[in-house]
Amino acid sequence: MLQTTKRPDSPVSIIGAGIAGAWQALLFAQAGHAVTLHERGDEAMTDATSHWAGGMLAPYCEAEIAEPIISRLGLRSLDLWRRELPDTPFNGSLVVAHPRERNDFERFARMTEHHRRLDAAGLAALEPSLEGRFRDALFFPAEGHVEPRRVLPKLHERIKAAGGTIKFGSDVSASELDGIVIDCRGIAARDEEPELRGVKGEMILIETDEVQLARPVRLIHPRWPLYVIPRENGLFMLGATSIEAEDTGVSVRSALELLGAAYTVHPAFGEARILEFGSGLRPAFPDNLPRIGIRDRRISVNGLYRHGFLIAPALAELTLAFVERGQIDNEVMQCA
Ligand SMILES: Cc1cc2nc3c(=O)[nH]c(=O)nc-3n(C[C@H](O)[C@H](O)[C@H](O)COP(=O)(O)OP(=O)(O)OC[C@H]3O[C@@H](n4cnc5c(N)ncnc54)[C@H](O)[C@@H]3O)c2cc1C
Repeated sequence: MLQTTKRPDSPVSIIGAGIAGAWQALLFAQAGHAVTLHERGDEAMTDATSHWAGGMLAPYCEAEIAEPIISRLGLRSLDLWRRELPDTPFNGSLVVAHPRERNDFERFARMTEHHRRLDAAGLAALEPSLEGRFRDALFFPAEGHVEPRRVLPKLHERIKAAGGTIKFGSDVSASELDGIVIDCRGIAARDEEPELRGVKGEMILIETDEVQLARPVRLIHPRWPLYVIPRENGLFMLGATSIEAEDTGVSVRSALELLGAAYTVHPAFGEARILEFGSGLRPAFPDNLPRIGIRDRRISVNGLYRHGFLIAPALAELTLAFVERGQIDNEVMQCA
């Protein structure tokens, strides 16, 4: 059972209210710490990479390219999402391929676990809109997805309900804060983490009521895992490129690829309205793995790369276990 009594002797300041900082703040507040979460942007969170994310909670699909540590943190995080936000949809996810990507589709099936192969009829039974579109599909039933722009405010509300304070418009640096400081500034932490780089991810938001999907659909693509994620009210997010560049905006080439992927999934997307083009910089270390850095009472949580929503809960649990019990996770933590 989580403690809810405040511990006034252990103030915890968290910098950055993106997905990393929000989960840190939530678990520390629930454990009774006097938490203040500082965010330099406003409630809309448009400055955060998290604002632009797909929000897929897909540890099994990600195992195709990610290290085992991502699966470990991801699987634990699924439990934490279920515990804290029980209405998180866990409808699974689908992987499909154009016939010319058949070999890559089979490779994806070999490299991943916990999926079922569906034939065309099975796919149509699960997603009626996809009837007749693909000859088969991989179904990962245990995966989930969240809508970042809805889930961040929900987490912020839960932090306040647990006794934490959130200060928007609060641009702070660790040196001006007392007590334990947890730096979750994402790419902005490069002033102290020179190894950090931004990996650009582009997305497009479209709207149509011609297609209904209950779960993310990934389309095997030679360069990037492209996907269509259903949002509420007939919206769909098309994502995401992965480009070693730190500019903003969406290139024509990326837009063509993202829109082409949607059109391959269903031609009715050709009639959808484009609502938004956007991009975010995924904060990544050279090994693309997350890192909890510990220096006295200063902790940094960064490098969540393409897995922020998938792994932020488990990273917060590890940080809390370190602060409360001195527990070290050698795979993720680096102590100065
Ligand atoms: C297109 C795209 C799709 C993605 N899809 C997925 C997905 O499906 N699943 C998944 O798990 N991940 C996904 N990701 C990755 C995920 O978005 C990132 O890993 C995650 O957002 C990183 O979160 P963060 O909290 O570390 O950083 P951020 O979200 O950037 O948050 C950092 C915050 O710190 C604030 N800040 C900075 N400096 C200061 C300061 N001095 N004082 C106060 N506040 C400060 C910033 O304003 C910002 O709000 C995707 C990313 C992109 C770009």
